[in-house]
Amino acid sequence: MSVQVVAAKMAEVELKDIPSKELPPVSPVTPRAEDKGVTKNEANAAAAATSSAAAPVAEAVRGDPSPTSTPCPNPAKMPQASAMKRTDPQQNGEAFVNSDGTVAEAPRMKKQIQFADQKQEFNKRPTKIGRRSLSRSISQSSTDSYSSAASYTDSSDDETSPRDKQQKNSKGNGDFCIKNIKQADFGRREIEIAEQEMPALMALRKRAQGEKPLAGAKVVGCTHITAQTAVLMETLSALGAQCRWAACNIYSTQNEVAAALAEGGFSVFAWKGESEDDFWWCIDRCVNLEGWQPNMILDDGGDLTHWIYKKYPNMFKKIKGIVEESVTGVHRLYQLSKAGKLCVPAMNVNDSVTKQKFDNLYCCRESILDGLKRTTDVMFGGKQVVVCGYGEVGKGCCAALKAMGSIVYVTEIDPICALQACMDGFRLVKLNEVIRQVDIVITCTGNKNVVVREYLDRMKNGCIVCNMGHSNTEIDVASLRTPELTWERVRSQVDHVIWPDGKRIVLLAEGRLLNLSCSTVPTFVLSITATTQALALIELYNAPEGRYKQDVYLLPKKMDEYVASLHLPTFDAHLTELTDEQAKYLGLNKNGPFKPNYYR
Ligand code: NAD
Repeated sequence: MSVQVVAAKMAEVELKDIPSKELPPVSPVTPRAEDKGVTKNEANAAAAATSSAAAPVAEAVRGDPSPTSTPCPNPAKMPQASAMKRTDPQQNGEAFVNSDGTVAEAPRMKKQIQFADQKQEFNKRPTKIGRRSLSRSISQSSTDSYSSAASYTDSSDDETSPRDKQQKNSKGNGDFCIKNIKQADFGRREIEIAEQEMPALMALRKRAQGEKPLAGAKVVGCTHITAQTAVLMETLSALGAQCRWAACNIYSTQNEVAAALAEGGFSVFAWKGESEDDFWWCIDRCVNLEGWQPNMILDDGGDLTHWIYKKYPNMFKKIKGIVEESVTGVHRLYQLSKAGKLCVPAMNVNDSVTKQKFDNLYCCRESILDGLKRTTDVMFGGKQVVVCGYGEVGKGCCAALKAMGSIVYVTEIDPICALQACMDGFRLVKLNEVIRQVDIVITCTGNKNVVVREYLDRMKNGCIVCNMGHSNTEIDVASLRTPELTWERVRSQVDHVIWPDGKRIVLLAEGRLLNLSCSTVPTFVLSITATTQALALIELYNAPEGRYKQDVYLLPKKMDEYVASLHLPTFDAHLTELTDEQAKYLGLNKNGPFKPNYYR
């Protein structure tokens, strides 16, 4: 049975209990997007899938009445998001819940988060040179979340600050501040390309032709402004929300995409190469508006949330919830919660199963080669590579390199992951056994000092060293900043570190996350994350009073499964449906959730 049929059947079952609203069909927000976003087959599949689009949300809101629902530690709370639980605290080095229920400090949280609390004057803008040289010192949070692509448009051609320009779109609307509205057509094409790889959001839009789960929602967002974000924003709009948006990173905005959004009527305040002052000014323009108050926050890094907390705390009276995407932002929310200062419910989408699994394994499998190739033009066939850590990220890296004909060694501390590496056909070694012979060293442990100076000293000439883990602590880069070693910047993000005898090692991105720094991230992965964001917004916005407290919650398992199911039609995948007998045997509801909440 095809997934379309299953989806349709699910819809039948799930929609039975939902009072149907007969609404007239709505015209899509962006007609071109609707016309070209999916092929005919995909559109049919999506239509079938979307007929159940809000059903899991609605069901989650209703609560799961099934007596055969999945056994879980707290069945009464099963359909709801689980508060304060973290999946794998070691993985991201963040706050986590102790067995006694208290939240522990992040064990490996390296970045000091600083804020521009005292800044309220926005008119002292730096000069052109000043803007270029500004480092991202105030909010570093956005560096740990993805921007899929740098802008193709060169922002240096017009040095006038967007804040100094009178801007209007073709309809005379000027409630935005971007680099150049003339780039809108180009940006629209970028958005259309992204739509092809974001099937779930396109499916949710089709669902919006019936019910608008975000009608009345006023979403203020602070994320990377890329083509993928544009697809999300236009989806939220199609679902009934009003959106105002700023960038969460001063470098990652695709100017042409911001232009397309502004031309489409979105209030966007962002451009590539903002100064620190611009950054906060843009956020402020999103929230500080006569006659408009947000009631939902979609944040990536926590800066927007922080700004509202500091400058407009009264706004929280109307805000129904925060959806946070990044490791850092989630960490901040847990800190607020721990301090008893979180005044609205928050949804941690960073730790939803679909995000974790796809980001860590598949995203790295797809992007490791890209990052290495772009920086070094290296050939992989026959090269000896050692991958440190055989968790999700390590597995992805190893699989990609093996497929390219590399000889891959693995180091591990955990016997289970070590055994997995062996069973997958990799040689499990200690780093010192292979360090002299390998051509490439990749760290993916989430740990610190995995590659120390001793190993760097013993590497052979030309060895490439890079990190795929979250923080830049895995390679002891500081130990290379000694007088006897010479650093030579040979390309952007590529340093040759030269020993007195002439030996060079090739250090990528100064030990920071390679794929984030040097390659793009697949749109399909971002689609999964964006869909979790959209569903989390829908859930928090529609949740009845009292369902969510002033706490941090994970996306309900059923919604996680739903995010995955929305992506299946892309592959013409045929999902098996449980028979009644099988469902009873397993103690499951036929429509899910199929795994307990603790399953990762
Ligand atoms: P994981 O916990 O599944 O895997 C890490 C593995 O490293 C574990 O199996 C652990 O036993 C092993 N390890 C720890 N210390 C070690 C050491 N000294 N030597 C050898 N092995 C060691 O985590 P994961 O999901 O694979 O993520 C790994 C890191 O990558 C994390 O920091 C995570 O935040 C980051 N990450 C990166 C990306 C990316 O796109 N680059 C995506 C997701 C996560």
